[in-house]
Amino acid sequence: MKLSDFRNEPFTDFSQPDNRQAFEAALHKVRDEVLGRTWPCWIGGEEVRGERTFESCDPGELTHLIGNYQLLGEAEAAVAVEKAHAAFPEWAATPVEQRAEIFMRAAQRLRERKHEFSAILCYEVGKSWAEADADTAECIDFMEYYAGQALEVSQPQPVTPVAGERNQMIYIPLGVGVIIPPWNFPLAIMAGMTSAALLAGNTAVVKPAGQSPGIAALWVELMYECGLPKQVLNFVTGPGKVIGAAMVQHPLTRFVSFTGSREVGLWIYEQIAKTQPGQKWMKRLIAEMGGKDGILVDKDCDLDAAVGAVVGSAFGYQGQKCSACSRAIVHQDIYDEFKAKLLPKVEAIECHHPSGYGNNFGPMIDPDAKKKTLDYIEIGKREGRLLVGGDTGPSNGHYVNATVFEGIAPDARLAQEEIFGPVLALIKVKDFDEGLAVANNTDYGLTGSVFTDDPAHKDRAAREFHVGNFYINRKCTGALVGAHPFGGFNMSGTDSKAGGPDYLLQFLQAKTISEKIQ
Ligand code: NAD
Repeated sequence: MKLSDFRNEPFTDFSQPDNRQAFEAALHKVRDEVLGRTWPCWIGGEEVRGERTFESCDPGELTHLIGNYQLLGEAEAAVAVEKAHAAFPEWAATPVEQRAEIFMRAAQRLRERKHEFSAILCYEVGKSWAEADADTAECIDFMEYYAGQALEVSQPQPVTPVAGERNQMIYIPLGVGVIIPPWNFPLAIMAGMTSAALLAGNTAVVKPAGQSPGIAALWVELMYECGLPKQVLNFVTGPGKVIGAAMVQHPLTRFVSFTGSREVGLWIYEQIAKTQPGQKWMKRLIAEMGGKDGILVDKDCDLDAAVGAVVGSAFGYQGQKCSACSRAIVHQDIYDEFKAKLLPKVEAIECHHPSGYGNNFGPMIDPDAKKKTLDYIEIGKREGRLLVGGDTGPSNGHYVNATVFEGIAPDARLAQEEIFGPVLALIKVKDFDEGLAVANNTDYGLTGSVFTDDPAHKDRAAREFHVGNFYINRKCTGALVGAHPFGGFNMSGTDSKAGGPDYLLQFLQAKTISEKIQ
């Protein structure tokens, strides 16, 4: 596939009865046939079972078991890296067309089984139908986009002609990649990072987040079914702090592709800088981390659109997105009107299990996330005024109601620290200048939006709002592969621009070949 032919996978229109029925059927199928399974790990092409397993439960209905997974330890993790290393030469020598074909075939197969994968996301990580559908669509996009990109970068690169020499520069793979994804886009991000690594000709060990191993196990199975050699993609489950850390530190690891929190990302950064005995290279890190994203609402703008965007960006998937809007920075002239329009919309949000059609606000991922959010709500009560929410939802899941504070100072903890939950801080500013300064005053730099009708303000914000993904008059979540290459500045990571034209280069190294000719 040529990259220029790439088009995003359309989202499912659930207002169509046929689509609703198909999704209901997938929810039933998954409940009957997939949930509750015990999943193996895969190392060096062999099924591996640990001495113990761990289970994961539906965060929206805690009595429901999602699955059992192998609790591997450091020794098995090390073997996985070694097996991936052994499989590297053959996979690196496999023609890129063959690699791309496997991923294109798998993307098509995933398209056919789309609702089944999305249904698992509803149960395993508490995504609404639309959020789950978008995660699966993004996964298909990553697989196809990177397949196209792999073909493109395999071509000889342009070099300046020199008389008497034949020169070329080509990209070659790096080696073993350790892939460490988060739980919040447990299909798209996990598969996107893995696909890029493998399409570039590397071998990999994937360790999914402990909260979301089920969807990863199913995707790995799909890849094997579609012809990916098992030795190339190793799959291990267990505690990130133990097996993730062991693989990051392993001397045969050539690069780490990580998406997750700032804390863990910085720890990995430090670890890969330490050369281990027997290590022959400087490890590479591709890291996408947290955000403290803001939407700046100017005095002249479509206020209804701004309110809709803030609600959608702050509370979509319960605020558990790196791109979620956690700060609405609002011009004082329209602050009261903005607030009056916003609050009824937030008050109307109710917690429900996301497997029901139209239930758009589900649980938080786990007890730790719920506790962290409730702790920040207590901090918010000291730093500002609680306007909506602040309490928990039904006790059968990790539910926290959509919450809004006002009177939050720009340097308050609620305005600075990533909560990763449904908590929005309203910050009133006197003018656009102050608004931009507040927007830029965190350690992060992932996403941000401005709502304004003023062309000069649009231009200025485009130049000065220092985030990797800047939007005008639209929400700050919902980046599309190819259209909105994604990645942040500062403590938001290495600005990898996932789904962008440069992404694959991070999984490759360039080799220059120069031949003297007569
Ligand atoms: P996390 O950092 O807790 O975990 C991420 C992954 O790291 C998991 O697979 C985990 O098991 C593993 N891990 C934990 N400790 C480890 C260690 N010592 N060594 C190696 N691996 C280890 O993050 P999370 O809770 O899964 O995800 C939420 C975070 O991810 C938020 O901060 C969010 O902003 C961020 N995120 C960023 C992006 C982005 O593109 N910038 C996208 C999604 C999520």
